[in-house]
Amino acid sequence: MRYRITGLIFSAIFYTFLLSFLNVFKTNAASALAAWQVTSDGTLKFRTTPYADLEAYYQSGYGQKGDRIWIDFPGELTQPRKLVGNGPIQEIRLGKPYKGNTRLVVEFNPQVSLNPSKLRLLGTSPNLWELRFDGINLNGLKNIGEGSLIKPAKQITSNRSSLQSLTRPLKDFQFASLPTVQRGRFHIVIDPGHGGPDSGAVGINGLKETDVVLDISRTVARYLGDKGVKVLMTRASEIDVGLNQRVLMANRSNADAFVSIHANATRGFRRDVSGIESYFFTGFYGKKLASKIQDELLHVTPGSPNRGVRQSRFFVIRNTNMPAALIEVGFVTGRFDAKLLAQKSHRRKVAFAISKGILNYLKESY
Ligand SMILES: [Zn+2]
Repeated sequence: MRYRITGLIFSAIFYTFLLSFLNVFKTNAASALAAWQVTSDGTLKFRTTPYADLEAYYQSGYGQKGDRIWIDFPGELTQPRKLVGNGPIQEIRLGKPYKGNTRLVVEFNPQVSLNPSKLRLLGTSPNLWELRFDGINLNGLKNIGEGSLIKPAKQITSNRSSLQSLTRPLKDFQFASLPTVQRGRFHIVIDPGHGGPDSGAVGINGLKETDVVLDISRTVARYLGDKGVKVLMTRASEIDVGLNQRVLMANRSNADAFVSIHANATRGFRRDVSGIESYFFTGFYGKKLASKIQDELLHVTPGSPNRGVRQSRFFVIRNTNMPAALIEVGFVTGRFDAKLLAQKSHRRKVAFAISKGILNYLKESY
């Protein structure tokens, strides 16, 4: 009896040992990342095992966090570490967010705004890669890196098409994280407030409501369109469209929801007043639509007060015959909000938040 228990314990220990031994072999394959460097001309270069299966991502900053890009490599990193950046780069991190993987993160300063549509990971040879940070201020950037980009061992053959297959755009992490709805099923009307001779509110440093809301609305239309939602915009350029006309367009469209996008102002130009508010006129669905958007807007504007989801009799939400919301994305007259709304990168975050709110609403209402 005693012997048998000892035997069991022994085999348990033995199997545990064997399993962990096998695990080491299964998941601790060496990292495909061999060397990397950020050069002073604003290029991330790195060397990998030939034809490594990489994933490259971009994520726009959040509050005090700057924009960042990261590359995931197969094979596990042995020693996670951080390197202090310089110039536009805040920090470079090497980590293993999950077992058997290596992640190289380049995080930029909060004031740097990358253009995600221009970010492209280029395979320049089967084991060498380049990613250029175009259109940003490179002042003060010095070379940072680890290891040698020159492969000492045998030459690797390549041809043009094999290299082309290595080149890829960076995936927009935030866009990838937008909720998914059935493609082609939903129809939304986006109404950018004001336009043309009617500039709407004019705020600090001449910041115009019409410009802010048109830029945000266009991005919302693109995000929703990419998710398979049909979008009708009441105006897509700087033209004046009457309120009646906006309502008529919406009511003829048979849309599932109507979202009017505005920026706020105080009568007395009070710079101390900032905040986010969303309006509905009536009904459970209108309130739900406004609430879903308000929730997401608060996530991308930390520090701007939550002025709540309110009922109001604004013409466009009172006369449209589908669930409707009117969103105030912040005060162009408010010191805090105006500084944010003047930034393209912030307007992109606001557009992301409004899109996410709309998609959440559609997902939960149908
Ligand atoms: Zn307005």
